[in-house]
Amino acid sequence: MTGKPFFFDLNIADLKEQFKVLNEPPFRAQQLWQAMYVQLEHDAQQITTLSKSLRTKLHESMEFSHLTPIDRLVSSDGETVKTLFRLPDGLSIEAVLMHYDERDTLCISSQAGCAMGCVFCATGQMGFKRNLSSGEIVEQVIYYARELAKENKVVTNIVIMGMGEPFHNYDAVMSAIDRLNDPRGLNLGARRFTISTVGIVPAIRQFASEKRQVNLAISLHAANDALRSMLLPINRRYPLEDLMQACREYVSLTNRRVSFEWALIQGVNDSPTDARELASLIKGLLCHVNIIPLNPTIEYEGKPTTRENAEVFKGILESSGIPCTIRLRRGIDIRAGCGQLASKHQ
Ligand code: SAH
Ligand code: SF4
Repeated sequence: MTGKPFFFDLNIADLKEQFKVLNEPPFRAQQLWQAMYVQLEHDAQQITTLSKSLRTKLHESMEFSHLTPIDRLVSSDGETVKTLFRLPDGLSIEAVLMHYDERDTLCISSQAGCAMGCVFCATGQMGFKRNLSSGEIVEQVIYYARELAKENKVVTNIVIMGMGEPFHNYDAVMSAIDRLNDPRGLNLGARRFTISTVGIVPAIRQFASEKRQVNLAISLHAANDALRSMLLPINRRYPLEDLMQACREYVSLTNRRVSFEWALIQGVNDSPTDARELASLIKGLLCHVNIIPLNPTIEYEGKPTTRENAEVFKGILESSGIPCTIRLRRGIDIRAGCGQLASKHQ
């Protein structure tokens, strides 16, 4: 990194400050903003509404990209595209675009690696490298927005479910969402975002108190502390009772439904008893359960559940009045699971 400001790290007020330093009027900052976020230009050099001297000045005084795509995989059905990006310090992160039912949902990373150590997760297995800056989060979206624009399409939904724990990089994630929200730019409505957390209780409380319209997903995977602590070590710090209390507070403060993620692992958490235990844990809460057959990773011996077990599991939840969707793992053939491409490259 060069120490120069990175364009995507800045909000419009910051950008106007930069322009002041360059002795340029604030409306020029707006022109640059519009060119980058609406016309999706790559660099000041291309922006012909700015004078040649200003273009050169900007090009020399700011950075316009931190992400270099170094690998790209397309699933066999063509509906999932995964890109591995290299960061300026040589670390890599990934983002995955999934086309499904008219929607183009983008799954983005919030950290390089992750400190949470969930046993079945490829990102957890590689350990924590560093937090992404807000601009590095934003640029993942911009990259795909440019790709989709070539087909006259746009990113419709964003899930912060790629590498990393978003609530361990809270401020950068929220400021990235604010920037992507901005009506003068990509104008992606808050309701189009989903943040997935492993269950950092104080951050869930803070998020609830901010009453954002952003959706919240909690990675649950087990409905008793013994099993959950084995799969997700953070459960020792924030056990289920505290986590469920924070979820109830979230629902009552925001009136929004919370989603629970459950990766079905054969013989570990996929039995009818597990389903009944889950049903009794979350009964009465405004919620939805997403069940996903485990995506196998190198360092974890667990296997995905069978289709039949997944159906039985779903049936038990539904008969308790809990809405549930089976999400088939998309793009398994391209290692679209969390962190799997980056760990291959390391
Ligand atoms: N750190 C956040 C978001 C990134 S992980 C979180 O844990 O919620 C996104 C989701 O993928 C989480 O629900 C996580 O538990 C799940 N996941 C990770 N590895 C997986 C695997 N091998 N198979 C299925 N789901 C996995
Ligand atoms: Fe981190 Fe989420 Fe992976 Fe756990 S599942 S290690 S919290 S990225």
